[in-house]
Amino acid sequence: MSTIQRAYKTELDLNNEQQITTCRQHAGAARWAYNWGLQRKEEAYRATGKSPNAIDLHRELNALKQTQVPWLYAVSKCAPQEALRNLDNAFAHFFRRAQLKQQGKLRGKLGYPRRKSKKRGPGSFRLTGAIVVYPDAVQLPRLGRLRLKERGYLPTGGVKVLSATVSEYAGHWYVSLLVEQEQDIPENTGPVVGVDLGLKRLATLSDGHVEDNPRHLKRRLQKLKRLQRAVSRKVKGSQNRKKAARRLGTAYRTVANQRANTLHQFTSRLAKTKSVVVLEDLNVAGMLKNHALALAISDVGWGAFRRQLTYKAAWYGCRVIVADRWFTSSKTCCRCGWVDEQLTLKDRTFSCQHPACGQVMDRDLNAAINLEQLAGSSPDRINACGEGSAGLGRPAQVKLPSVKQEPNAFSASA
Ligand SMILES: [Zn+2]
Repeated sequence: MSTIQRAYKTELDLNNEQQITTCRQHAGAARWAYNWGLQRKEEAYRATGKSPNAIDLHRELNALKQTQVPWLYAVSKCAPQEALRNLDNAFAHFFRRAQLKQQGKLRGKLGYPRRKSKKRGPGSFRLTGAIVVYPDAVQLPRLGRLRLKERGYLPTGGVKVLSATVSEYAGHWYVSLLVEQEQDIPENTGPVVGVDLGLKRLATLSDGHVEDNPRHLKRRLQKLKRLQRAVSRKVKGSQNRKKAARRLGTAYRTVANQRANTLHQFTSRLAKTKSVVVLEDLNVAGMLKNHALALAISDVGWGAFRRQLTYKAAWYGCRVIVADRWFTSSKTCCRCGWVDEQLTLKDRTFSCQHPACGQVMDRDLNAAINLEQLAGSSPDRINACGEGSAGLGRPAQVKLPSVKQEPNAFSASA
């Protein structure tokens, strides 16, 4: 048995205006505190070269409450406090990425913390403390008992509730409980598999399995475009514009739900049935800059794929290995190690030009097998490649690139 942390998210059934108003107030307080904290940090940094942390800011905020922002008394003290903690995390994330950039290990954006805008919806807030779960409701500090749409999903016993995050999306309110629970991590005796992520197909596995990409967004793009046009035609600030915006939000929400569902099913299946999964390290942010690919990539949800797989792997005794970014999984022949420098995105098959090999194979399958071999499951094949190419006066073309083990998002402690 080991202790793991996991989150359970489910929709709230806020049945009266009072509850919705209170949720909005809390989310508003969290947003205000975040923006205020960001401004304070920037001011302090400019003045002194040092920036106050969440604890300093919370102390300062408590003093302000008595004079300038008395309305904060109306909400749980957790909401602003946790928002300031989020702000600290956002800065930690930014500095970590800035350091990686300095070392030349990062090509994407640094992600400097931004102000949270009301225009993007009410937002969210996190509460800690006395949280009680019932089969059909959850009781939160200050908000009282809130009904749930789905009965029996949240764990009611045998877990320690660490926090509850309430958030809004397209007019629906959700609660996400972070809990600590004891879980048996099963012995995973499944095979090793390499996964090549793609656009036409969501993924190709080295065992030959192909996972189709349902492309929820693309299918609905026409409808989304029509709804988007409807919003822009309405007068700014009018009721009709609000209504149209709500319809657009709902359509996006449907797409997001479907996409999440597809990904969750796929990542769960991989984590449960494979002992090792080898992935490429994709520079998603960099690829999104390529406008031809951007929509297709954001539709697939690669970032979410890796994140989900990593935390689920910890639950099911699976290991995730991420190949070095420069590993040429697509351009290398999985049988002999010959490298096709001319291979482009258009080429759907890989045909090896090595005289002694001449293998022709589906491009994605070839890449997936190369990834699988990284796990060291079939070292004989990699050795054979190296020797074969060296023997013909070429440098050995298959170098074992460095692999890094994905740290488990939810670390399991025995
Ligand atoms: Zn070959």
